[in-house]
Amino acid sequence: MIKGKVLSDYAKLIIKVGVNLQKGQGLEISCPTQKRDFALALTKAGYNAGASIVRVRWQDQELDKLSYTYADISELCHLPKWLIDSKNYLVEKNFCYVAVSADDPEAFKNIPAEKLFAVSKARAKALKKFSDNMMANAIRWCVVSVPTLAWAKKVFPNNKNAVKLLSEQIENAMRLNQENPSTAWQKHIAVLNSRAKFLNDAEFEYLHFKSSNGTDLMVGLAENHVWTSALEKAKDGVYFMANMPTEEIFTAPHRERVFGILKSAMPLCSNGQIIDEFSITFKDGKIVDYSAKKGYEALKGLINTDSGTKRLGEVALIGKNSPIAKSNVLFYNTLFDENASCHLAIGKAYPTTIKNGDKLSIKELEKLGANDSREHEDFMIGTPDLSVVGIKKDKSTITLFSDGEWVI
Ligand code: ZN
Ligand code: ZN
Repeated sequence: MIKGKVLSDYAKLIIKVGVNLQKGQGLEISCPTQKRDFALALTKAGYNAGASIVRVRWQDQELDKLSYTYADISELCHLPKWLIDSKNYLVEKNFCYVAVSADDPEAFKNIPAEKLFAVSKARAKALKKFSDNMMANAIRWCVVSVPTLAWAKKVFPNNKNAVKLLSEQIENAMRLNQENPSTAWQKHIAVLNSRAKFLNDAEFEYLHFKSSNGTDLMVGLAENHVWTSALEKAKDGVYFMANMPTEEIFTAPHRERVFGILKSAMPLCSNGQIIDEFSITFKDGKIVDYSAKKGYEALKGLINTDSGTKRLGEVALIGKNSPIAKSNVLFYNTLFDENASCHLAIGKAYPTTIKNGDKLSIKELEKLGANDSREHEDFMIGTPDLSVVGIKKDKSTITLFSDGEWVI
């Protein structure tokens, strides 16, 4: 179990390195009710770092399940103004925002997918302004995880030590078991930055992904795209890390220049449902066909959220020897699984992956090829035999990945 000093060190790391809270700033924490101890540790770390106020927004999937089962659907799809305002308030007041992601991957497996997507569509629409601001780094935010029983049981089924085992995996991925986690993170960031620099200097026009499972996909990159990694700069000029752990280097694909077919490399857990063994076909950047052995309705709901969920908004490179990939554990949680495998995202592109993108309008971003949507959902395509070749404007090529690992 992550507890005692490890838990408080973990909380400190998130406040200092994750959101990099500055003296006098407000902090909001979104946390599952089962992890009250973690919310307490984060709150203490926040005040110790000089937070002016720390507020906790509780999440509870069991309560949500009751609402999905019994509540009036029109009420479920209506987000009160106070709730929308309370999110936008965080941006107005430059709060730091920590989201604790520890969902039961199958919490809503018996709820009809149409119902779940009707609600998530309504939520995404009502909170678009807030999520746009988050994706443009208008505030400093960080997504992190702690183990919960239901999640651990899914990762390590029929194992009485499931929570302990998941805790060890998280400690390893977060480098909490290293002598000085902060220093270990600085070293890691330097490696990611040097790879991002290589990719930025190369100015590729396309990346070609190919795997023996059938993936054969050309992903065009947006004009003026920027490869980004762990450390990002917020609007106020202060650096932060939006995801912890993070192993990825990512940028914006061109919304109209994606061709071919991709096959999933891992299940995707979205909205309390599992989508597995899926395949998506693209033409001129748009999804023209898709199938899934498991969770077809959930995939269909995701792709049909809005016009932007039929196109890509992120392409990310991660080698198969990243600490998370090497653990060989399937986490059923995108925060971890996406850091074990090359991935793509359906939906909105991060404006920060375009040069001066945070100052451009949605129209201007779209002109450069950066996609817009109310959603952004990552899914994994990195198999152990994946090859990735970068193609420049003059048609010269550089192999970036061979057998699932960096070769540059
Ligand atoms: Zn990503
Ligand atoms: Zn993403």
